[in-house]
Amino acid sequence: MAANYKAELVGCFGQPVAENPTGVMQEAGFRAAGLNWRYLTVEVGPQDLAAAVQGVRAFGMRGINLTIPHKVAVIQHLDGLSDEARIIGAVNTVVREGDKLIGNNTDGKGFLRGIETDGGMDVGGKRVVVLGAGGAARAVATELILAGASDLLVVNRSLDRAGAMVADLIQNTSGPVRFEPWVGSFAVPDDVDLLVNATSIGLYPDVDAAPDVNFSGAKSDMLVADAVFNPPETKFLAAAGEYGLPTLDGLSMLVYQGVIAFQMWTGQDPDEAVMKKALAEALGVE
Ligand code: NDP
Repeated sequence: MAANYKAELVGCFGQPVAENPTGVMQEAGFRAAGLNWRYLTVEVGPQDLAAAVQGVRAFGMRGINLTIPHKVAVIQHLDGLSDEARIIGAVNTVVREGDKLIGNNTDGKGFLRGIETDGGMDVGGKRVVVLGAGGAARAVATELILAGASDLLVVNRSLDRAGAMVADLIQNTSGPVRFEPWVGSFAVPDDVDLLVNATSIGLYPDVDAAPDVNFSGAKSDMLVADAVFNPPETKFLAAAGEYGLPTLDGLSMLVYQGVIAFQMWTGQDPDEAVMKKALAEALGVE
């Protein structure tokens, strides 16, 4: 057989990007699958995004992840979008299909997979509260609605961002979406099955901050999930734990968004345990 020394390339564009651990997780998955693939973590500023996407084409890369600040801006440089990415209005994973670059969003799918697999919950018919109205909240809320949540309450500080998110969700999914402004402490109603922090409150370095939530009225089996993964042990989850509520950290979402991107790029199922272990080691958690 002729030798083949050519690696297949994927990666991530962002700014800042140096602390993004996704490459460690993906490369561990590639090694375990015996794939000669590389994941390049590349610092790209907004002024260079168009040229960087052109680089994806020129290098014949199989795909690319986008992180802050490129998830929305990249759309104008792509050839098409998945339905979810169109509804969410943001792309975190680009996949090459022939000579076309197609934008997808695996954040919400990764979150949902975590809720099902690690949280043991089928969201069909469940009542959900999502804190936040940014990119993560849009992705999470879209997938929860598409998976059949029976009620989705968006709670956010700024009215304009939440209003736009709720209007987009209703227009694109006809789902049962409601909005409540976040004034003072948000008292969790007693019929909520799943509460998600999709704000950036508690994210490093602001690790002592926590969303202002009163858990005292929550039912005893309400699952509390955090999108924040750095650190994984957030003040928010600790507060929920004090009420004896089950919790799910942001590593779950991070691992599964990567697992789904791996599947989209390679067409293979990765060794999820290997990817999870590599990520946990990179972030210094057990
Ligand atoms: P955005 O900047 O798009 O949105 C931030 C959200 O947080 C907004 O709703 C904002 O409210 C809210 N917020 C921030 N500070 C405060 C505050 N002090 N009080 C009340 N609300 C606040 O961020 P993203 O949606 O991109 O990311 C959110 C989080 O999700 C980050 O921690 C990110 O790391 C995490 N994430 C995790 C992933 C994973 O795989 N685990 C994947 C993607 C993201 P307002 O509209 O009022 O400004």
